[in-house]
Amino acid sequence: MHSPQQDRLDRLRQALRHRKIDALLVSQPDNRRYLSGYTAPDHGIQETAGFLLIPASGKPVLLTDSRFTLQAEAEAPLFEVVTYTRGLLKSLDKLCRKRDLKILAFESEYFLHASYLRLEKMAARLGLELRAESDLVERMRAVKDAHELELLRQSTALNEKVFQSVYQTIEPGMSEREIALALELTMREMGAEGPSFDTIVAFGTNAARPHAVPTDRILRAGDLVLIDMGLILDGYCSDMTRTFVVGKPDQTFIERHRAVRKAMLAGIQAIRAGVTGVEVDRAARQVLADAGYGEAFGHGLGHGVGVAVHEEPRLSPRGTKQLRAGMVVTVEPGLYLADWGGIRLENMILVTEEGAEVLNRDTTSLDL
Ligand code: ZN
Ligand code: ZN
Repeated sequence: MHSPQQDRLDRLRQALRHRKIDALLVSQPDNRRYLSGYTAPDHGIQETAGFLLIPASGKPVLLTDSRFTLQAEAEAPLFEVVTYTRGLLKSLDKLCRKRDLKILAFESEYFLHASYLRLEKMAARLGLELRAESDLVERMRAVKDAHELELLRQSTALNEKVFQSVYQTIEPGMSEREIALALELTMREMGAEGPSFDTIVAFGTNAARPHAVPTDRILRAGDLVLIDMGLILDGYCSDMTRTFVVGKPDQTFIERHRAVRKAMLAGIQAIRAGVTGVEVDRAARQVLADAGYGEAFGHGLGHGVGVAVHEEPRLSPRGTKQLRAGMVVTVEPGLYLADWGGIRLENMILVTEEGAEVLNRDTTSLDL
């Protein structure tokens, strides 16, 4: 049986041949993991855990340094693992000559300018043509296969389990940081690799910042609480937001919460293969505008989720690409008012030919 990596490599090679590219140098860590199975992350763009060289034909190569050689060999059996001791370029130079490569593509969205200048020098020496590519692998990643969908379902289910176990314990007197820490600790205890992004816990006016960082603010009865959290399970991310009140919600909260929920449902209803991200975004945005909160919803409606928590496609006024069956996206409308607070609701949705399937089961606060 083919491994998922084998299928992905086959598809990528086809795309390379179609574009008359001899090989693609992969430096983006999510793309690297997606294509090879090698899980080591980068600790910053200047601290890479390695590169892939995917030729249009012939065995693919994983280049890394000695810290990662054993891990690379164990996790990426389809690859020849080359350990470099004096940086990438010496080994790459050798490989390009050995494989007689004439046209080498690199990922222009994830390649430092300084590294590019060195690559350019090497290319000039070898008579190699460089090709800047931007989303060859990202485009493949956007549509999930059955195996990936199963992993995304499991990731989502575990994320909800973690949320519920901490949600039950939330009470006045706890701080934002305390709840965020409990969530991230529980994720790891329950088997996740870790959070898929820094957990957001915001009380009251702090929730007016869509990307709030948890503080020492103490929860009081009647405060609204916004929690945006996700985890990584077997390489696949989840992402969910709930906003609720500890104690009894007032009429203002209920009215605003209903507007956001209605926008969420409108967004989900607009989803099916063939529509663009712009159209889905507009459907939800219109609901909030009609309720008088057009100005209060500044960010895009959603994003793809997979090996990265933010990936293609985008559901936003700039998301002109058509959705395809098998894409998994978030729908996360919100409203943010500086002197009051914020509400955001977020679910993960599978795009199908006929419409949409919500991957979340958790209904906390959604039935207000
Ligand atoms: Zn989120
Ligand atoms: Zn999100």
